[in-house]
Amino acid sequence: MSLTALQEIESDHVVPSYARYPVEVVRGEGTRMWDSEGVEYLDFLSGISVLNVGHCHPAVVAAVRDQVGRLTHTTNLFYTEPSMRLAQRLADSSLGGKVLFVNSGTEANEAALKLVRKAKPRGEVVVFHGAFHGRTYGSLSATPQESKQAPFAPLVPGFVAIEPTVAALDAAVHEGTAAVLMEPIQGESGVHPLSDELLLAARAACDRVGAALVFDEIQTGMGRTGTLWAYEQTPVVPDALTTAKGLGGGLPIGALVTGPRLADVFQPGDHGSTFAGGPLVAAAANAAFDVLEDPELLAHVVEQGERLRGRLEQLGVANVRGRGLMVGFDVADAPGLARRLLTEQRLVVNATGPTEVRLLPALVVTADEVDEAVARIAAVL
Ligand code: PLP
Repeated sequence: MSLTALQEIESDHVVPSYARYPVEVVRGEGTRMWDSEGVEYLDFLSGISVLNVGHCHPAVVAAVRDQVGRLTHTTNLFYTEPSMRLAQRLADSSLGGKVLFVNSGTEANEAALKLVRKAKPRGEVVVFHGAFHGRTYGSLSATPQESKQAPFAPLVPGFVAIEPTVAALDAAVHEGTAAVLMEPIQGESGVHPLSDELLLAARAACDRVGAALVFDEIQTGMGRTGTLWAYEQTPVVPDALTTAKGLGGGLPIGALVTGPRLADVFQPGDHGSTFAGGPLVAAAANAAFDVLEDPELLAHVVEQGERLRGRLEQLGVANVRGRGLMVGFDVADAPGLARRLLTEQRLVVNATGPTEVRLLPALVVTADEVDEAVARIAAVL
């Protein structure tokens, strides 16, 4: 089928909720992907931080092949080894509590929101301007962006949106606060790390009123910033975190991970999902986990992140920022730059706003590929 035929089907039959590039992707391997014409692209977006292990990592492919012929699904009415093993690894590698599987990032945040409300009934949830937590109603209500929220009012009540400052936080958190929900580095709004000072203030405010500090690590987690979890590079430990994106090695899975205090808040019947944590996605996630928890790989992320930011600074682009391989910078026309990089340089990047460009290469990216990407950016600037 030609690209034109695909576009006709889209125009007739697909709800127009995405603006797609006119490219049909047919294959991916590591940091590269190919379109139906055989054109090769250097992928510095990784399916928006999903392909942290790269496209079609051999270990993930092998794990999926092995699992798919034996058992793909059974529901959470039964035990499966891949699911239990993944839960143990997630909890042991982070907050030491318990894990609830879901199928996506927004669902992980929905679970977190229900959890903190059950822990502190009718409590408010404090969120930050610039945050993105997802598009289902709870997560959307926690995402204070006018353009995303306004068409869907009324939203879920009980959310308080504030500027990311210590003063605003201290004023907003009170005895009736159930949680502060935050991304340690705001991703969708252009890679903006929140300051240690703000994180410490959030931790202190939550402790003061018995609220839960919840980190949305859906984008920052699974090695993206050079540690398995971004909170490890901050002075605070949250009470719960959410993960998805890179967790499944390319397959859809998300999880809520609690610390000990919140581990037994949910009881049978409180929350669930037919598909969540099924053996196929869990097998893929375990294979991805093997790759991403490797200290050598994490050191490589730090090194390549520094290289990428250094090269971009040498280029003279404005406000180079980020941690590990979650990198942002500013240009006059970010969507224009992303389009030209794709069509003229075969480099996939992403504009998160009119002036903000985001780079999220696979964590296995080589130094040569980092240099190649920056050379392609230089060519269109
Ligand atoms: N939270 C953060 C920080 C995200 O970056 C995203 C997606 O970009 C989400 C939540 C929503 O995840 P999903 O698209 O899997 O629902």
